[in-house]
Amino acid sequence: MKKDSKIVNAGRSSKWTDGIVNPPVYRASTIVFDSVAQMKKATANKTKQEMFYGRRGTKTTFAFADAMNELEGGAGCYVYPCGTAAITSAILAFVKAGDHLLMVDTAYEPTRDFCTKTLANFGVEVTFYDPLIGKGIQSLIQDNTKVIFLESPGSLTMEVQDVPGICEVAHNQAQDITVILDNTWASPIHFQPFEHGVDVSVQAATKYIVGHSDCMLGTATANEKAWPILRENSYLLGQCASPDDIYLAMRGIRTLGVRLKQHQKASLTVAKWLAQRPEVKTVLHPGLESCPGHEVFKRDFEGGNGLFSFVLNKSNQQAVTALLDGMHHFKMGFSWGGYESLILAVSGLKNMRTATKWPHDETLIRLHIGLEDVDDLIADLEQGFARLNALL
Ligand SMILES: *Cc1c(COP(=O)(O)O)cnc(C)c1O
Repeated sequence: MKKDSKIVNAGRSSKWTDGIVNPPVYRASTIVFDSVAQMKKATANKTKQEMFYGRRGTKTTFAFADAMNELEGGAGCYVYPCGTAAITSAILAFVKAGDHLLMVDTAYEPTRDFCTKTLANFGVEVTFYDPLIGKGIQSLIQDNTKVIFLESPGSLTMEVQDVPGICEVAHNQAQDITVILDNTWASPIHFQPFEHGVDVSVQAATKYIVGHSDCMLGTATANEKAWPILRENSYLLGQCASPDDIYLAMRGIRTLGVRLKQHQKASLTVAKWLAQRPEVKTVLHPGLESCPGHEVFKRDFEGGNGLFSFVLNKSNQQAVTALLDGMHHFKMGFSWGGYESLILAVSGLKNMRTATKWPHDETLIRLHIGLEDVDDLIADLEQGFARLNALL
């Protein structure tokens, strides 16, 4: 089945939907049984998708988990109340006190903080590594290394990682190493994690899967080997997402293919326009050669999206504020993946990494290119640059 057909069909087993096109919201804590035999049947195999208590999930949960699992090509998928919960639960399933974890230096900030704070408290040692290290990761592996965590591309600075290279090294060691990938940028359709050797793929479904900036959700999908461990630990951590939010994600996912095509097309147009501008030092868009890891992107990814960054040639706080304050379409916001365009100015990147040195002094601007007309978006940026230049 081709990808667009898969997106429309995934998770629509009549077992969960009773034929209703979009699975309804099944909310539950208590589920009652009429006989001992029925109750025994429902609880006989706790690893199966059976409704017997709300925290285990309802038909709404199972339909979405199946959909994500089918799209990412895993052995099972667990649903969490947000992307961060998926990340922390996936990590906690595979480390214990005394273990060592390798974390990419460009990781999403809460992921990084979870390592330096929570994992440190639990006695898990963490080493940050260069996102462009590739097979060189070998030199950082210790006897007690149990997890390698990747995020590709990094969601601020966009370095694309050599996922298959790192997985090959990880799976070539004496000990078992679990490779976890934050696959949010690619969504479940533009990078196939398990074909590239990943063990657990995490999605902040909050972003493109929900797609309308109106709820929080996360998923972790695992291969055959990692799935039972991930499933059991996530359940024991009490992870459980609201069927109402899952319903929104299930609604969002059906248009993921067409939305991403438009985000991707418009973001390349804007990125190429920016690359010609005198105000711009470099454009960090995985689809352009100027982005570190562009070659890997071309080799491994099946498409892009609307999120990328660029670095200004010259800036000061007042000028950047003027640029941001007057925008019509690009509103300031920390998220991305909805239908609307967003803008974020980031300085201080030098202090946000420890294994590598961020090479630019000037402000980085991150854009999310939404579904507005691309000419309107470019005009908005052009006027923003005029406001910037007036104050430089
Ligand atoms: C937003 C985001 C997360 C966290 O997702 P939440 O649903 O906000 O907790 C994780 N990773 C990346 C790359 C993200 O952009």
